[in-house]
Amino acid sequence: MITQTSISYYGLNYVEHAEADFKEMKAHGVTQVILAVTEFDFDFWRPNIPAIVDKAHELGLRVLIDPWGNGKYFGGEQVSKFLQDNVENRQVSALTGEKLPYACFNTNSYRDYFKNFCTTLAREAKPDGFFWDEPHYAFPKGIASITGGVADDWTCYCPVCRKRFEDYYGYPMPKYMTNDVKQFRWREALVVLADTSKALKEIDPKLEITCCVHATQNGYYVSEYRGYDNWDMVGACPYFDVFSTTICNWALPEDFFLDITRRTVAIAKKYGKKSERWLMGYYKQPKDWKQVDHWVDIAVKEGVDRLAAWTYRGGYGTVVGAPDALKLWDTIGENYKRVVGR
Ligand SMILES: [Zn+2]
Repeated sequence: MITQTSISYYGLNYVEHAEADFKEMKAHGVTQVILAVTEFDFDFWRPNIPAIVDKAHELGLRVLIDPWGNGKYFGGEQVSKFLQDNVENRQVSALTGEKLPYACFNTNSYRDYFKNFCTTLAREAKPDGFFWDEPHYAFPKGIASITGGVADDWTCYCPVCRKRFEDYYGYPMPKYMTNDVKQFRWREALVVLADTSKALKEIDPKLEITCCVHATQNGYYVSEYRGYDNWDMVGACPYFDVFSTTICNWALPEDFFLDITRRTVAIAKKYGKKSERWLMGYYKQPKDWKQVDHWVDIAVKEGVDRLAAWTYRGGYGTVVGAPDALKLWDTIGENYKRVVGR
């Protein structure tokens, strides 16, 4: 049964404007807001964030805070203050040695920054939980990703990662992706999220953690290798409560959506978590609106616990808005109302 229907929401500034938007979400069958809090929001709009969370609660919506695009380590279009303020602690290309515009989440500098961001918001805003939104290494990304493109280069080859690798394995980090490098990347990628999730639960054990990874094949021939493609390792993390996989473009074959959905539910069940599937509620829309109903039916039939969509109003007014953004939003809303709690 679908127990929660979520929509992401950004551009939060004024409580009274958020209130009107929250009412519109309620009318669209939404039960849970994924509140995308940027580094700028945290730095500048902090006083209003708790008030916005309070208002959502008052209207009967659950709230999960999404550190949207934080350090450009998480998915998202907005800019990163961490990268602006730090010329070091960036991910480094293994092939060229160039510093990249992605925070290295294996450095203590970023780990401290991220943990402080989340624990501060937990204490001040009192959300229902946190949402880890497509965390990833910069490279590579495979053809199974909606963001697409095969790549040979990989990260992170920064001084901190190289030292940690050598300390652990007893030899210098290779420049090509060996099995040790893969294992190192998977293990280190989970440390930052596990540590922060643990710290959040120490503040309030009821804080719920969703980890949302890219919806990829991860098969024998194709894998993303962006750090969270080993779903067993992600699912086994004891501090995560919900195993979630991100959107599939509407243009992808139904079998792909079905395969991702089945594997998501299987991993969630295997590790005693709730499962969540995302719908593409921005950028693209299906040729036939009935596809939304059909994919929602697939999720229900396969035993998904939660549905979520990116984003409020179909991205209306942004460069990633769907062609008929408001129609897409309404169609998702109709589906939410049709399936939630049934
Ligand atoms: Zn690094």
